[in-house]
Amino acid sequence: MTALPRPLLLAALLVCSPAAPAQEKGEKLCGDCKTTGKIAHEHKADVLEREKDVLYCSYWMDHDPEALCLDWVPCPDCLTPSVKAAAEREFGGEIAKRKAWLEKRREEVDKVARTECIHIETEHFILSWDIPKIKVGRKTVRMHDAAHLYAERAEELYRYIIDLHQIDEPAQMIGTKFKFAMFERKLPAINLAPSFVDKPIQGGQKVQIIGPHRSNMVSWDDPEKILGDDEHRHQFFVHSVSHHIYHDIQLGKIYQYWLFKRYGWMYEGLAFYLEHRLFGPPKLTCSQESAGFSQYREKSWEALVKKEFQGGEYPSFPEVSRKGADTLNDEERWMSWSYVDYLMWLDPTKMPKLVSLMTNDQLETRDALKEAYGITMGQFMDGWADFVRREYSLRPKKGPIVRPPRGSGR
Ligand SMILES: [Zn+2]
Ligand SMILES: [Zn+2]
Ligand SMILES: [Zn+2]
Repeated sequence: MTALPRPLLLAALLVCSPAAPAQEKGEKLCGDCKTTGKIAHEHKADVLEREKDVLYCSYWMDHDPEALCLDWVPCPDCLTPSVKAAAEREFGGEIAKRKAWLEKRREEVDKVARTECIHIETEHFILSWDIPKIKVGRKTVRMHDAAHLYAERAEELYRYIIDLHQIDEPAQMIGTKFKFAMFERKLPAINLAPSFVDKPIQGGQKVQIIGPHRSNMVSWDDPEKILGDDEHRHQFFVHSVSHHIYHDIQLGKIYQYWLFKRYGWMYEGLAFYLEHRLFGPPKLTCSQESAGFSQYREKSWEALVKKEFQGGEYPSFPEVSRKGADTLNDEERWMSWSYVDYLMWLDPTKMPKLVSLMTNDQLETRDALKEAYGITMGQFMDGWADFVRREYSLRPKKGPIVRPPRGSGR
């Protein structure tokens, strides 16, 4: 039952109950447990509410040593020995599984980072969190709740991307369990990064490894980037996590190529697109990209692109589309975002195929566009120019930019 979310787990338990092992011949029935061998182990309503979408939470386990968050325990004074024995066996198995999970998290993260995180596992993510408190708006959110908030945000983003592109999940996803370790201090991040993502933490606030079956990130609250508020952290998180989720799309084969080097415009454009959709203009670059864009921070990218476009001096698509993410300059980043913005406006449901043709087959951009969107490079460039002319405004906009896809009847 490990993989079942809690509501399903409860449902499964209820369904199983009538078929629970009946007593053997000559045994008494037990009133305490209705001869199931199990009695309810109660949790407070607010705890259940907070933990409802979570598979495992180390904090909750630490505060429930008796049952490690299970909702039942073996019937202590059971009158039916065979039923009791079966329940105890099952209980022992469940407890062992939970202890092994906890042990693994501490082994893999806490011991190496030399700190104590709260670990939360959800359907698609394992988050290790070591930020004592965060400020969300005016509210101070303490460590355990903050860890849940971020686990929830990760799942929300996953769902958002699936819905946005109408991806058939789980069939069209590899199903990697993404692991993120987020620290307040730099030192634990320095300690953990080499084993967790195979590279040291350097200048930026995060490092990551992206790949099928191993897609991890280590970050810390660099005060120069996070700026003491949660908005920056949240937006940075969405940007970074989206890199992981997009690489997990598989139409056909499992991917073998990272978008980063050969399709930098897609790699970054997709992340910037989500930032625009959910927040507004990007606030930060991610650490694996070349530094910069401080002077353009939070300015309207729509206006920046349109101005360049109207001036007639801007990098061409064939030029930008050949670059790696680490060599894009400011201008090319706006353009990358704008190309993705255009393709998403054309048809967001074709994007998974485009991504997949790049990560699986490593097609040339021209061939990938032709196959996924049915357009030539020339048509792409004309269509994009037209899109910028008609859709972009020179007036700076604040807040999220959600552009309904073409022909959606707005
Ligand atoms: Zn919890
Ligand atoms: Zn009993
Ligand atoms: Zn990025």
